[in-house]
Amino acid sequence: MIGSYDEVTARWGNPDKPVTLSDGAISFLTDRVGPPRRTPAVSRLDIVVAPTELDDQTRAQLISVLGPDGLSVDADTRLAHSGGFSYLDLVERRGKSPSVPDAVAFPASHEQVQDLIGTCVQLNLAIVPFGGGTSVVGGVRPERGPHAGVIAVSFDNMADVIGIDDVDMTVTVGPGITGPTLERLLGVRGLTLGHFPQSWERATIGGYVATRSSGQASAGYGRSDEMVERLRVATP
Ligand SMILES: Cc1cc2nc3c(=O)[nH]c(=O)nc-3n(C[C@H](O)[C@H](O)[C@H](O)COP(=O)(O)OP(=O)(O)OC[C@H]3O[C@@H](n4cnc5c(N)ncnc54)[C@H](O)[C@@H]3O)c2cc1C
Repeated sequence: MIGSYDEVTARWGNPDKPVTLSDGAISFLTDRVGPPRRTPAVSRLDIVVAPTELDDQTRAQLISVLGPDGLSVDADTRLAHSGGFSYLDLVERRGKSPSVPDAVAFPASHEQVQDLIGTCVQLNLAIVPFGGGTSVVGGVRPERGPHAGVIAVSFDNMADVIGIDDVDMTVTVGPGITGPTLERLLGVRGLTLGHFPQSWERATIGGYVATRSSGQASAGYGRSDEMVERLRVATP
């Protein structure tokens, strides 16, 4: 779950399992770009998060769709949903005032997503679906465009397994479930999704399907879009 800005959301990997380069790799890189030096993540204290531009009335309308816990304008939450892992995203995150969404929505059902889209159309707000936030092509950048504001839509509250059919060998899930959680739940029944992109730890099913991701087992099990039997999609 993405909830706050820290070194983990600012970077990729598990700090408990640091990766070290071999002497040969260090020597190669030193030769070409100079000796290694530490580049610590920018401290949260140094980052200025612009205030939300959503007025009280707009927020009230969104809360009427999402419920009181379904909308956050908290600075840390907005910062944690301010981009993915593209080179440009990472450079932006090293700045002191990155672009952030005006709010993060946490819908809990398909119906809420549909109503949210309708309300955002009425209010002229851009929305950016945000799964695991591992996009490397700028897919989760909070771009406002010509709109009055921009809202990131998290699927953290839609991350359940809805059903597993051992006969048809299908699983029905909410879009926010991550690879490790789904594998754990399937594994109990001796099953696997067979989808292991290198972003597996954080990426979500919704993100897989939206990006047609492929992983290191896809030559055998097929790309993510080839695994989809049915989708329920909310549209404007
Ligand atoms: C270290 C690293 C390794 C990677 N390895 C691979 C790899 O092996 N194979 C590969 O294919 N990709 C890889 N990627 C890219 C990325 O992880 C995949 O594209 C992944 O499928 C994105 O999933 P996500 O949940 O993080 O989606 P996000 O990054 O949150 O979103 C990706 C796009 O999908 C949209 N989206 C997300 N959820 C939904 C939803 N529920 N409904 C509608 N739209 C939605 C977003 O708006 C965005 O445009 C890697 C990225 C990193 C950082």
